[in-house]
Amino acid sequence: SLIAADKHYCVVGLGMTGVSCVRYLAARGKSFSVIDSRQNPPGLDEITRDFPDVTVLTGRFDEAFLARANTLVMSPGVALATPEIQTAIKNGAQVTSDIELFLSEFSGQVIAITGSNAKSTVTRWMGLALENGNKKALIGGNIGNAVLDHVDEAFDVAVLELSSFQLELLPKLNADVACVLNISEDHLDRYDSMAHYQQAKQRIYFGTQHAVFNRADVMTAPLVPDSVKVTSFALDEPDLNQYGVRLENNQRVICKGFESIMTVNELALPGEHNIANAMAVIALADAVDNDRQATISALKTFSGLPHRCEEVGTIDGVRYFNDSKSTNVGSTLAAINGLGKPEKNIVLLLGGQGKNQDFSPLVNAVAAVCKKVICFGEDGEALSRLISGSLLVETMNQALDLAKTIAESGEIVLLSPACASFDQFKNFEARGNEFVTWVETAK
Ligand code: ADP
Repeated sequence: SLIAADKHYCVVGLGMTGVSCVRYLAARGKSFSVIDSRQNPPGLDEITRDFPDVTVLTGRFDEAFLARANTLVMSPGVALATPEIQTAIKNGAQVTSDIELFLSEFSGQVIAITGSNAKSTVTRWMGLALENGNKKALIGGNIGNAVLDHVDEAFDVAVLELSSFQLELLPKLNADVACVLNISEDHLDRYDSMAHYQQAKQRIYFGTQHAVFNRADVMTAPLVPDSVKVTSFALDEPDLNQYGVRLENNQRVICKGFESIMTVNELALPGEHNIANAMAVIALADAVDNDRQATISALKTFSGLPHRCEEVGTIDGVRYFNDSKSTNVGSTLAAINGLGKPEKNIVLLLGGQGKNQDFSPLVNAVAAVCKKVICFGEDGEALSRLISGSLLVETMNQALDLAKTIAESGEIVLLSPACASFDQFKNFEARGNEFVTWVETAK
């Protein structure tokens, strides 16, 4: 077990994950301290109230403080490359995380999901499929509650949405089935190259018995031993035992090899990218022997998550879509490919923190289907220089005011910013909620 009695732990980074680690270590009677570089990190009040005897250092990372710990329980929000953390590791500290601690005690099946986009959608969709199949599933990781808050409950399956930062903290995940949904540029503010980002994502396959990947995205292809079962999905016609789409009587049908599963029209979620997502759900559900009909019924009913290409209202015949969760170029391309028409029906709102992305793949895609692009936020200026004919404002609300004067009946105003929100908002939810509020008020 990771938890030896004589060890001292240091929880590095508070917030929801850090607080769950503190509660867990305390419940297991471990010796531990807490450190966070922020002066007043979220969860601090709770910890000082409930654990008054625990030593907490805030406002900076301190080498001497860290040196007292044998094991650092890292929050995915703190980069491993942080110099003080690197020093501790060089001096012999072990690294672990809430996910690894949880898995060390978990005996059910583990489905692990990562990707640049679609993680939350596929994870929640999986949850519904398993629930329909009468399996008790824990949905956790980069989504919902902290897994350690549920370590004492019994589950048949854990569906873990894992970010690349969480994967970096997992030496060997050993998932029953693991999937990289897609890889496109993201987080290049924390990775020095695409190769390192891909490497972090590929860690999800370490020790798995069954790898599921996207055969249209070569970066997701697993480099695993022959003994590992490998299954793929994509929108083209499948080989035997692979998932894909085939034309039958002029209908597009999702299939596994020669077996027809359901027509594309039966999916509740629109958009080509959601057909790929649905196939990932089927592949993963099949991998844990979920009842196929239960999976299909989830595919027919799941109506998606808020802030993901969500239609939120119509004003003067113009439909408004909130895709605030689009925080990279790949997800914005999926949105405009799904909603766009050759007659250029989209007024696109773009901007925020670009995380060092290369925005250039947007140029042609936008030119093909957008009537106008309005840029805002920290990287708005860079975007507006790149996209000819675009407009530049400071805030999203100004962009909305302007969009309302440009979009005509039958057209779409789409917030799909391709950027993080932290320059002007608390998070993507706050950005999406402000978009919705604007629409409600303008109606
Ligand atoms: P994640 O948890 O990986 O951020 P979400 O399911 O929250 O994924 O979706 C994030 C964004 O990606 C949304 O804008 C959504 O519309 C878009 N998206 C969903 N599926 C895909 C896909 N297969 N490819 C590209 N973008 C996608």
